[in-house]
Amino acid sequence: MVSSVALPQAPASPFRHLATRPIWAAYAGLATVLLAYIVTLLIHPGYAAVTSITGGWGIDGFEFVVAALCVSKALVGKSRPRMPLFLGCALGSWCAGDIALTIESLGGRQPASPSVADMFYLGFYPLAYIAIVLFMRGELRRLTAPSWLDGGVAGLGAAAVCAAFAFHNIIHSTGGNTLSAAVNVAYPIGDLLLLALVVGGTAVLRGKRRTPWLLIAGACALNTVGDTFNLFSSTIGSSHVGTLLDTVAWPGSFLLMSMAVWVRPRAANPLAPQRPAGFLLPGIAALAGLVILFTGTLHGLSRVSIGLATATLVLVGIRLALSARGLRLLTEQRHRQSMTDELTGLGNRRYLFHVLNTFFADLADPLLPTRQLAFLFLDLDHFKAINDSFGHAAGDKLLRQLGPRLTASLRSTDVLVRLGGDEFAVVLLNADAEYATLVAQRLMAEFAHPFVLDVVSATIGASIGIAIAPQHASDPAGVLRCADIAMYRAKLEQSSIETYNEDLDDDGNLLRLAEELRVAVQEKQFVLHYQPQLDLRTGQFSGVEALLRWPHPRLGMMAPLKFLPVAEEAGVMPSLTALVLDDALHQWAEWRAAGHDIDLAINVSPSNLLDAGFIGSISEQLETHHLPAGRLVIEITETCIITDYERSRGVIEELKALGVTVSIDDFGAGFTSIAYLRDLAVGELKLDRTFVSGLLSEDKARGIDLIRSTIELGHALGLRVVAEGVEDLATLEVLGQIGCDIAQGYFISKPMPASDLVLQADISAEAEVALGS
Ligand code: C2E
Ligand code: CA
Ligand code: CA
Repeated sequence: MVSSVALPQAPASPFRHLATRPIWAAYAGLATVLLAYIVTLLIHPGYAAVTSITGGWGIDGFEFVVAALCVSKALVGKSRPRMPLFLGCALGSWCAGDIALTIESLGGRQPASPSVADMFYLGFYPLAYIAIVLFMRGELRRLTAPSWLDGGVAGLGAAAVCAAFAFHNIIHSTGGNTLSAAVNVAYPIGDLLLLALVVGGTAVLRGKRRTPWLLIAGACALNTVGDTFNLFSSTIGSSHVGTLLDTVAWPGSFLLMSMAVWVRPRAANPLAPQRPAGFLLPGIAALAGLVILFTGTLHGLSRVSIGLATATLVLVGIRLALSARGLRLLTEQRHRQSMTDELTGLGNRRYLFHVLNTFFADLADPLLPTRQLAFLFLDLDHFKAINDSFGHAAGDKLLRQLGPRLTASLRSTDVLVRLGGDEFAVVLLNADAEYATLVAQRLMAEFAHPFVLDVVSATIGASIGIAIAPQHASDPAGVLRCADIAMYRAKLEQSSIETYNEDLDDDGNLLRLAEELRVAVQEKQFVLHYQPQLDLRTGQFSGVEALLRWPHPRLGMMAPLKFLPVAEEAGVMPSLTALVLDDALHQWAEWRAAGHDIDLAINVSPSNLLDAGFIGSISEQLETHHLPAGRLVIEITETCIITDYERSRGVIEELKALGVTVSIDDFGAGFTSIAYLRDLAVGELKLDRTFVSGLLSEDKARGIDLIRSTIELGHALGLRVVAEGVEDLATLEVLGQIGCDIAQGYFISKPMPASDLVLQADISAEAEVALGS
């Protein structure tokens, strides 16, 4: 300690923050004096008697300076000045006792017992207790009842041990008059309390404000040792070591206490792992209490120690009861947390399985009546688009708003959980398929109003799959699976709500399909068919549209509409489009190299437009294959544009900047809004098949007028117009007459593999006739 005082700037020193060098210089001086004194005593033991009694002024002066230094902290310190004040006064009181004793002993007189000095000495204790309690209070306010009790147990245990070994002797060894005996007993009691406070405090303050507390605790321990030796030397007789301790214990302990108020505690390290308070000290104390009680029954121990030991064990009991209660509360809290979804506050997947497991366990019990359960699997449509367009915070906000909305249309006995992501589940106990459908409809109605997110409000759809247990499945995983299959079906058919039936499972388990799709993308199992497009103005093949096919290992050749929605849901759309682009451009380059100057049309889906790398990969591919961007057509459906208009508009503009033509596919199939066409940088309109094939049915004249005006409108906007689904000669003729630019359809050619396509081949004889006419 002294050496670090001499090096106040040493980086590891607890005093490094101090700008109070003179104070520490003073302490260093005092420590040196004390050390010199100890050395002198070791060399000349007889000197103790001279200095401690007759020549006591030296020690008195020493103590006075120490007390004054302590009090001065109260005067200059900003925070908690009361503690140094009380401690300083405690030291001062003891110093006053020493001075009184020195005066009484002047001229070799034997001081009276009790004397005035005793009054001052005893004044030390209450003041010191207050100081210690004040010191601890700052830390203790934040402590829990068990920590307090740990301190109490440790303190009481220490007191019990002390009383068992020392008290007995002391009480018996103090003779003389009652007042003198009382005064002599007051010292050990005072020390006992001090010790109890220090041991208890050490248990409570474990790991906190270490340096100051260690100084105070060490000082108190030293003090107690000094007092004990003093008592023994005054009652039993002195020894060499006893005298030395008796003489230096007090000044030494005062020096430490005084220094403690000047030491700044180190700031807590926020990175240090938080350890729970140890139970070592209280544990030892409890054991000591037990030993004392046990020994007390064999040999008569003092009542004080038995009483203290009993109190220790009572506190241990209370502490254990509190711990047990805390543990129970903690377990309950953990349990609740583990069953709750953090974002929405709803139950989570674990909770769902808890509910389902309980249901199926009851179901297996023949003594219980059979019950039914309906399970609703709810999945949001295009939730990813919300996250991608408005950010995850907006997505989270939507999910949080959804919980209360859905809960509102459920009974209190129904269970709503979030399975994760944008998936929710509802468990309806004692419900059949009919009731479940009713609830599902109510839930769907909740999606009618938009969700107010930070800057925008968004409307989102959902699909619900229903499964009934035990009708559809006999375990939790099975119920989940059935409802999931039904939900996928609802998505695919865009029917919102679907109840599981075995047919759904048979005609291609969609979950399995999604898995197989992932593998198929990895293994590039797909092929492209190409459908030629005929330029009605020149009678030449002007281009081809690439159409995706999946030769499924189990289900045979699959049409895109069967698996594209699943691909979209499974999130493999970006990689699938990449495959198509790669393959189609490769083929196109081959055709062009062979001298066929044709266009290539590619279909893309909504998620491609949201994909940040989409434009980049197109321009990269065009460059790799040395292909003209101006001859590439990207077909986008109307619905895709409406889903996220602003975003689509941006992407379309970027494609145009690249030189690529954007075509509005299936035009006229949805709610055609010609108004927005003006604002979009598209280059082609592709009239929907239903529009074209109905051309010559029922109201022929009206159908033709409708198509003609659409074509004229397209032309007015500078767009090329393509008619698809041309299935007969008559339609082709009419289209040619009313000014359609390009035609595509089974009548001209079905889509087919590149190897089967003969691009120079003449169009069918009838088509030629039509064009010629
Ligand atoms: P679409 O872009 O409207 O493609 C035209 C669809 O109509 C094709 O069906 C084609 O085989 C069919 N078709 C062509 N001529 C006729 C006809 O005269 N009569 C009738 N009834 N049908 C005709 P397909 O190949 O099954 O494609 C269906 C849809 O799948 C496409 O509709 C397109 O939206 C999508 N699709 C196809 N390939 C891809 C692709 O590579 N990527 C993306 N994202 N979607 C694709
Ligand atoms: Ca198309
Ligand atoms: Ca189309």
